[in-house]
Amino acid sequence: MTSPIVAVDLDPAQAPLTNQQVLEDDRARVFHSWSAQAGLGGLPIAGGQGSTVWDVDGNRYLDFSSQLVYTNLGHQHPRIVAAVQEQVATLATVAPAHANAIRAKAAELIVQRAPDGFEKVFFTNGGADANENAIRLARLFTGRDKVISRYRSYHGNTGAAIVATGDWRRYPNEYARGHVHVFGPYLYRSEFWATSEQEECARALQHLERVIQLEGAETVAAILLETIPGTAGVLMPPAGYLAGVREIATRYGIVLIMDEVMAGFGRTGEWFALDAYGITPDLITFAKGVNSGYVPVGGVIINEPIAHHFDDRVFPGGLTYSGHPLAAASIVATLQAMQDEQVVANARSVGEQQLGPGLRRLADKHEAIGEVRGVGVFWAVELVADRADRTPVDDATIGRLKGELTSRGLLPFTAANRLHVVPPAVITAEEAEEGVGIIDEALSATFG
Ligand code: PLP
Repeated sequence: MTSPIVAVDLDPAQAPLTNQQVLEDDRARVFHSWSAQAGLGGLPIAGGQGSTVWDVDGNRYLDFSSQLVYTNLGHQHPRIVAAVQEQVATLATVAPAHANAIRAKAAELIVQRAPDGFEKVFFTNGGADANENAIRLARLFTGRDKVISRYRSYHGNTGAAIVATGDWRRYPNEYARGHVHVFGPYLYRSEFWATSEQEECARALQHLERVIQLEGAETVAAILLETIPGTAGVLMPPAGYLAGVREIATRYGIVLIMDEVMAGFGRTGEWFALDAYGITPDLITFAKGVNSGYVPVGGVIINEPIAHHFDDRVFPGGLTYSGHPLAAASIVATLQAMQDEQVVANARSVGEQQLGPGLRRLADKHEAIGEVRGVGVFWAVELVADRADRTPVDDATIGRLKGELTSRGLLPFTAANRLHVVPPAVITAEEAEEGVGIIDEALSATFG
């Protein structure tokens, strides 16, 4: 016997929702990431369209954060929404062991966009477990243990991924073993006393190789790098660095894993950020832009030798929702829409025509800007209290800047002493110019 369905009527006498009420309800019951829970702020987002979002009170904002740098196709893209609706009506879920057409199609479209030599995709629930499984694949493939990654990096919040991470979020979470960190190239705050990109590159490569030798090359399974470290500050690799890392990894029999979770799928004006550097890693991890985050998903793109290593050996890893059909349908729709609407080219053009020149103009005008770095729709503006000694501005100043931006209708993404300018890849030239104008005004209001 089926039980009757009870219709829940909304109380017509109930007051309409407000920002204040939604914020209070959220803070009462929702436990938030990376934060002390008392006194948290936050914007109650009610809806969005393209590069714009609005709050519960009806205020509109240009989304220059892409949420957490993932809505590359913006909000409510009709083709992704329709694909998920259609899939939920057809087959809402299916276990990973069963073959499924939409999952195979998603994997095919992803592999087609990767460099030559990649063969298969292992799907995960997001970016952290993509890195987790890439590390597992590398360890099993090489029979080695250690993983080398960078200080100034973020790879996700789970077991090995958080210990591979090179920022403060690692310190309370260091329970995984075999992780070693190196400095990467970052000329603006050089660890190598370098005065040119060439020096920085050569010394960072020499440092990496010396660490490998001193750790015992035969113990190193993987080098794990974000192609362009994102949250750490959009740290553009100097010419020759990634090719040099590739050469070192090959020479010592180490698996090279490129983390494209933030930089991949259009953000840099390329399908993958690594396309601009002409290198082929052994494993690529992805999430975020692959479906603009409409359904949680990530994965590892696996090259032929590593994929075939497991033809007759068990891969000891898996997830209940690996290759979930709603995620797969959203990936297929996203990648087809990106192709048809030339979203990758749009990101490149907005970077070259509006964001790059616009932000550099702001650097000429505002003393507080120490450096502007980036490409496509992936930029960081480094804010300093003193240009000569490059002292980072403090948290209170960043808090004031965020307030000035939000009150002028721009939703910002900040990290440490930086404003990251990371709008959706579908942003128009006019919206990009409008955003740069708002940043200009907010900088004047914050720094005078
Ligand atoms: N890798 C990079 C480069 C990231 O930026 C992130 C998230 O910001 C992750 C991994 C972790 O992804 P997720 O939060 O989906 O687990």
